[in-house]
Amino acid sequence: DALYLHARQRPDAAFLITPAHPGGPEEIFTFAECVRLMDRYARALIALGVGPGDCVAVRLPKSPHSMILFLAITRAGGTYVPINPDFTQREARVLIADSAPTLLIDNDAAAAADMGADFKVMGFGTGAAHDLASIAADAPLPGIGPRDRAVMLFTSGTTGRAKGAPLTHANLLANIRALAEAWAFTQSDRLLHVLPAFHGHGLFLGIAMPVYCGASVILMRKFDAAETIRLMKQSSVFMAVPAIYTRLLEQPEFSAASCRTLRLATSGSAPLPPELFNELRQRMGLTIVERYGLTETSILTSNPIDGSARVGSVGRPLSCVDLRIADDNGSPLSVNEVGHVQVRGGGIIETYWQRPDRGDDWTADGWFETGDLGRIDEDGFVWLVGRKKDLIISGGYNVYPREVEIQIEAQGGVSEAVVFGVPHPDFGEGVMAAVKPEAGAALDIDLLEQKIAEALSKYKRPKRIILVDEFPRNAMGKVLKNELRQTYADTFA
Ligand code: ATP
Repeated sequence: DALYLHARQRPDAAFLITPAHPGGPEEIFTFAECVRLMDRYARALIALGVGPGDCVAVRLPKSPHSMILFLAITRAGGTYVPINPDFTQREARVLIADSAPTLLIDNDAAAAADMGADFKVMGFGTGAAHDLASIAADAPLPGIGPRDRAVMLFTSGTTGRAKGAPLTHANLLANIRALAEAWAFTQSDRLLHVLPAFHGHGLFLGIAMPVYCGASVILMRKFDAAETIRLMKQSSVFMAVPAIYTRLLEQPEFSAASCRTLRLATSGSAPLPPELFNELRQRMGLTIVERYGLTETSILTSNPIDGSARVGSVGRPLSCVDLRIADDNGSPLSVNEVGHVQVRGGGIIETYWQRPDRGDDWTADGWFETGDLGRIDEDGFVWLVGRKKDLIISGGYNVYPREVEIQIEAQGGVSEAVVFGVPHPDFGEGVMAAVKPEAGAALDIDLLEQKIAEALSKYKRPKRIILVDEFPRNAMGKVLKNELRQTYADTFA
């Protein structure tokens, strides 16, 4: 509805802008053009048999047309299931089999044929075989209700098998409304979109929220540091993950001058180390607004945008979110006590895909378990201390990795620290730290251990520190602690 409204009120205003790139010139898609294409693709989908609630899996690179296709699938009453185009055949096959789509849209016909036979396969765009975009159909478009499913995303699977999170139109709208209010997002905003578009961060915050607000989006096909710095000068909002900010800081021309037009720069999907926050404030002349969310819930908390963000906190719950901290038995805890982060609200999925019984993921009284551990301070700010599955129990004591990471990252010469537990014959689990030194810094591990000893009690200190050039990460730049645990499993054996 929002897109139709903007197309009526401001038909010639730009919605999607793709910068000039080696393959082609700058392209601008106005709201009117986006609506025209969305309706056309939606009719083609219906003509191809996509009915209400059907999953449509899409494995395409990020482009204005693939983003309009996302809107078209939801407009046709279908459920958009984006598949990371960089996934291997094996990874993609698991998600496609799980979502049981009616249609797969993929420009690699051979790869798509190898995905299964229970669904139709179409290509998309100029030159594609069986091009969906070229179908002219005049099927009527259905009415869409708030409880209809819009999108199914799979959790990244960093802690196990990926699970499908089906989000309804009502879920998306509840979250987008609250976030747009918290971030004062308006049609005057121009967002620089550098994130992948198959994840909640890039898809909901990066596309659905601008649709809702009538803002425009500069759509970068893939992140590139120099190009990002150039395009920032034409943008008012920038959304990224910590790994992207680290890459930007490596560029000498990344400065307050290049961020002059930005009113808001946000970070999420993974913890933002305080050192990075401070360095960014210095370089950009901006206070990064850190926020926290999950695929299943969209955004839960955000720091204020008025510069009063608290370093290391993920901010306060959005207006559509109830957030509490509970003990192992589900009883609410008081201010500053560490426990399970549990949430309720209109943006949160009702159940996982094809798992109607809610299992341990919801409490008996209907709170969703985020799997994160944290506390709320006296001013209502939320502080995460790590994920439940990453909690280290060493000698019977709970060690919260984030607390240890923050202390290590506060030391000179450290770029990033990742703390995890591995089997230990005496302690059950032993604390380990993988540390990435700052570029050009020669880190003295003995000195680092000494500094950590001044800051942390003995049971929290890493029993082994190793230096690494880089961490294993997923597409969102999130460190894969599982892999680290496996690689270093025998350290104390
Ligand atoms: P899976 O649940 O399958 O392991 P995943 O959790 O990586 O996958 P996402 O939904 O992308 O999938 O990630 C949500 C998690 O990301 C949160 O539970 C939280 O641990 C982490 N996260 C998100 N934002 C922040 C943040 N600002 N600070 C710290 N952690 C964050």
